Amino acid sequence: MHDVVIVGAGPAGLTAAMYCARGGKKTLVLGNTYSSQQSMGGLYENYPGFPDGIQGIELSERMLAQAQKFGAENQTEQVEKIVPLSNFFRLKTENWQYEARTVILAMGAGHRPLGVPGEKELTARGVSYCVHCDGALFRNKAVVVAGYGNGAARAVLYLANIAGKVHLLCTREKLVAESVYLERIKNLSNYTATFGAEITEIQGDDFVTAVGFKVGNTPRTVKADGVFVEMGMKPNADLAIALGLEMTPGGYVKVNRLNQETSMPGVYAAGDLTGGRLQVATAVGSGASAGISALQYLG
Ligand SMILES: Cc1cc2nc3c(=O)[nH]c(=O)nc-3n(C[C@H](O)[C@H](O)[C@H](O)COP(=O)(O)OP(=O)(O)OC[C@H]3O[C@@H](n4cnc5c(N)ncnc54)[C@H](O)[C@@H]3O)c2cc1C
Repeated sequence: MHDVVIVGAGPAGLTAAMYCARGGKKTLVLGNTYSSQQSMGGLYENYPGFPDGIQGIELSERMLAQAQKFGAENQTEQVEKIVPLSNFFRLKTENWQYEARTVILAMGAGHRPLGVPGEKELTARGVSYCVHCDGALFRNKAVVVAGYGNGAARAVLYLANIAGKVHLLCTREKLVAESVYLERIKNLSNYTATFGAEITEIQGDDFVTAVGFKVGNTPRTVKADGVFVEMGMKPNADLAIALGLEMTPGGYVKVNRLNQETSMPGVYAAGDLTGGRLQVATAVGSGASAGISALQYLG
């Protein structure tokens, strides 16, 4: 029996773990920190304390080390089900089960797909959701970035250093990103863009060859060896829904923002799973709050 089991090893979960373990509670984190958004996000320039920025993987490893220093354990297992029992919770993974007096949910978010023909079939054969993982495969090749926000802007900037050509298919009338990114994009020589594009299909047999899209009613295609999908994120909320937690209309776990309480006593939630600003700094803040609340709940 653990005092606290935390589901998710991103910045929200690891911060909550650090608080709970440092508060003297038997704390377990279930989840793989290397599959967190934080680990896949590349260089973080807006997390305080690192004036030159810090790589997401390094930040994840440091957060895990800090939680472990105070006694938190980590198992890189995926939780499949949470069962509320009389005064504790049972968490089932593929091969094991754990019991906890209180649970903190911090499963983060995953990529929102385009949902067009060819996307699923060509995933890992030219379609990717992670420039930092797959960008290097497209050295001197032509790539498309599909998206509209900060994620798309960052993907363009990253890929422009590797690929021969980067074409942005912006699904809105303009790229809505931080001005620091927009300024840098202006200086790229191998970048072009189409705005107001409705992407209709990804073409290719064994590998991606082109992307089909419409601007207004006019169908068009752009040749590409790779497509990076940057359509934003959707919360990894399945466990929370199955547990019967109250959700927001946007599909996030509903919490009391003062203490990260969910609709179920003894269950707290933090980070991107709960919506809001979807940043590392806010994930850390809500993780700290959830950790303190769990400590108070445990008395
Ligand atoms: C490409 C990219 C760039 C970004 N750039 C920035 C930036 O510059 N600045 C910024 O502040 N933010 C940035 N972000 C956003 C930031 O990374 C996230 O807001 C932050 O990581 C959210 O933290 P989290 O702990 O809520 O979730 P995550 O970091 O997503 O971690 C979720 C964790 O939950 C685990 N998990 C999920 N389901 C289960 C399950 N069933 N069982 C066990 N474990 C599970 C995952 O494996 C993971 O360990 C970026 C994100 C991306 C993808």
